Amino acid sequence: MVQQRGLLSDPEVIKNQFPIFSKHPKLVYLDNAATTQRSQSVIDRISNFHQQENASIRRGAYRLASQATQGFEAGRAAIANFFGASSSECIAFTSGTTESINIVARSIIGPKVKEGSNIVVTLMEHHANFIPWQVLCQEKSLELRVAPLNDRGELDMNKFEELIDYRTVVVAVTHISNTLGTINPISEIIQLAHRQRASVLIDVAQSATLYPINVQELDCDFLVCSAHKMFGPFGVGILYVNPRHHQSVQPYNYGGGIIHSVTVNKTDFLPYPRNLEAGTPNVAGVIGIAEAIRFIQTLDRKKINQQLHELTAYARQQLAEIEGLSLVGNPNNSSSIVSFTMDGMHPHDISSFLNEDNIAVRAGQHCTQPLLDQLGLPATVRASFSAYNCLEDVDKLVTSLREMKSFWT
Ligand code: PMP
Repeated sequence: MVQQRGLLSDPEVIKNQFPIFSKHPKLVYLDNAATTQRSQSVIDRISNFHQQENASIRRGAYRLASQATQGFEAGRAAIANFFGASSSECIAFTSGTTESINIVARSIIGPKVKEGSNIVVTLMEHHANFIPWQVLCQEKSLELRVAPLNDRGELDMNKFEELIDYRTVVVAVTHISNTLGTINPISEIIQLAHRQRASVLIDVAQSATLYPINVQELDCDFLVCSAHKMFGPFGVGILYVNPRHHQSVQPYNYGGGIIHSVTVNKTDFLPYPRNLEAGTPNVAGVIGIAEAIRFIQTLDRKKINQQLHELTAYARQQLAEIEGLSLVGNPNNSSSIVSFTMDGMHPHDISSFLNEDNIAVRAGQHCTQPLLDQLGLPATVRASFSAYNCLEDVDKLVTSLREMKSFWT
């Protein structure tokens, strides 16, 4: 199982591209939903920028400044191309998914929304795609409608459809649940919402790396994600805004870099996306995410998805066989994320125990408290896989959990 058409799919070969695994050879990294590791190519690119190319962008006539500007704008073009956007001008850089969603709520939807309208989210949203809408609803007297889940942890599509009506301004939904691993039918959701003339924001923080996403084919209104979950650096977020909304985007922060002209009485702003990028941007970060995109394009994503699907199914089956262990959510269409609890053991204790065996998982509410409240759980343990994980990683997790059980019971 190696390269197809020159693309990488073998987890061991991919793992070799990530220096953290040679630094920590025993590490079993199963916290990819929180952040992925960085490839050597991304680390080198960012380091080279700092060593050889560092300059602030836009306002310098000297060579380094214009090269940095070109690198930054090439990053925008690479992201636009990666998501199939019609032009680079559809992409704004932010600090992360969280900021991208706040911008949509505060600077695009907020200013034009009318009292009595509603916003539809789902019970499985990350707080980043929940609280900005909840606060906007409170401030503007809107109704927040929360789409429920069925027993498997999937969206109940009939109820979801009923919630969207002619007063819905935006439907904000995650592509993949960061707690349950559920893959939502975003194409169907976008069509349902558009039938009622509602806009749709899709949060692809958990899917952008491995699932090909084309914003023009989907016809979504907004798309958001974070570089650090895509083998790229921390501190860079992506916001795609469909051209039909460009005119509605208002500045989010005020300052340099977003203005057309300023007098003592008045400021004229540049159009989107420049009006969102006040201040000196994260130039090295944008150059880093462009390199991460290049890295992703060396991967055979179709094959890796198939492998991850098998790996996750194997993990679910092996974990379910451990007495006293309960899987949280059992979606038919699931990605590489598995949540579970164990009788009589707190998830934080479980993750500390696993740490003794160099297994990195996350325990907690995963920023989805409304979902955990509904499930009646204080927390779960979450294992999340990426292209460099293999069946052996699952075996180590299962062996460690079995040892823990025999130790504690
Ligand atoms: N949405 C989802 C689905 C996520 O998984 C996360 C991160 N766990 C976020 C939003 C927030 O991303 P960030 O912290 O990078 O802003």
